[in-house]
Amino acid sequence: MGSRLSIAVVGAGMGGLATAAALHRMGIDVMVYEQARAFERLGAGIQIGCNAMQVLRGLGLEQRMRQEAFCPRSWNNKDAATGQVRYDQIFGASAEERYGAPYLLAHRGDLHATLASAVPGERIRLGHQVTGLDDQAGAAVLRFADGTTARHDAVVAADGVHSLVRNLLFGRGEVNFTGRIAYRTTLPAALLGGGEIDECTKWWGEDRHIVIYFVKPDRSEVYFVTSQPEPGFTLESWSATGDVRTLRAAFGGFHPQVRRVLAACPGVHKWALADRDPLERWHDRNVTLLGDACHPMTPYMAQGAAMALEDAAVLARLLHSTDDRASIGDAFRRFEATRKDRASRVQLTSRANTWLNTKTDVDWVYSYNPWTTPLAP
Ligand SMILES: Cc1cc2nc3c(=O)[nH]c(=O)nc-3n(C[C@H](O)[C@H](O)[C@H](O)COP(=O)(O)OP(=O)(O)OC[C@H]3O[C@@H](n4cnc5c(N)ncnc54)[C@H](O)[C@@H]3O)c2cc1C
Repeated sequence: MGSRLSIAVVGAGMGGLATAAALHRMGIDVMVYEQARAFERLGAGIQIGCNAMQVLRGLGLEQRMRQEAFCPRSWNNKDAATGQVRYDQIFGASAEERYGAPYLLAHRGDLHATLASAVPGERIRLGHQVTGLDDQAGAAVLRFADGTTARHDAVVAADGVHSLVRNLLFGRGEVNFTGRIAYRTTLPAALLGGGEIDECTKWWGEDRHIVIYFVKPDRSEVYFVTSQPEPGFTLESWSATGDVRTLRAAFGGFHPQVRRVLAACPGVHKWALADRDPLERWHDRNVTLLGDACHPMTPYMAQGAAMALEDAAVLARLLHSTDDRASIGDAFRRFEATRKDRASRVQLTSRANTWLNTKTDVDWVYSYNPWTTPLAP
């Protein structure tokens, strides 16, 4: 059954695009509103867990992603100073066999472009910053910064960790800033001047860590992301250019392999790390939150985007079997009931930053398939 509903998605990030792609594939009328005027290729990598790859497969995007991304033999975990292995989580062919999908490492821009390729251009309105949301006789009316409006049967707010729609629905609750900063960038592997580096390793120090991995199948591009204390940062420094000399000094005691990557790195961005406690509610009548808007998390399990992608698949399944506006609230209630326990568990597990530090049970994360998981009644 194809739904005749008209759905607005706020935000063309990972969650918004995946939702739009899934709805469009199911023949549902969807329009994405994104505040940015153009898509930017931010210098960052992203781990695409086997569970997230199930979503891409269902959207017909698996082959493209495999061609763009690096498939590591493992996610290794080493002591920062000695290089001693703490725990080596094997992926490669064995993960594919066990979980039914590969574990890939990609450039964030490549994952974003892959998702965007599954949404027709005319279904995405760039330069549309949502500033308000009204209920008019059961329809949802979005208001934009330029004074225009758009009317839809329902709204899926995938507007990220600082979600405006979340604030409008449930009041302004501040995010939990962790007091820590992530420095991150991608760089051409050629800058390393030869010499091997690990395929994918998290180097664990006492109060900081760095994760380094390849993001291209031919190992031509390297990515790193750190987490380190930065007391006194402010909301204004949420996303900014970082100083590579400060970064190199902060990791001066780390393994020579780490220092070599940082020495070769020409520039870097820094990003304040934040999460939230699990929210009490994700939806209100015909408006639902999705992705970071409802379950922002620290990046320590590399599962934030994966959760947003899983959300997209489950939500699309529910909307596919919803035919009239009156039933939307029920579909959104079932979405929340299907997804909340899992997303909350990942949020709280991630917060602890112990994932893969020692032997870890990972099956519950990577074996989930949102296209087949039972839907809440
Ligand atoms: C350092 C770091 C490393 C990470 N690494 C990984 C990883 O390896 N693997 C993984 O799975 N996850 C990772 N994550 C998490 C992942 O980046 C997020 O969980 C994911 O981007 C969430 O997607 P989203 O669509 O919910 O939000 P976003 O990707 O933040 O998208 C929100 C979109 O909404 C738009 N928007 C916001 N407000 C408005 C408005 N008012 N009107 C219109 N548009 C609006 C924004 O411009 C943006 O495009 C990492 C995060 C960080 C910080």
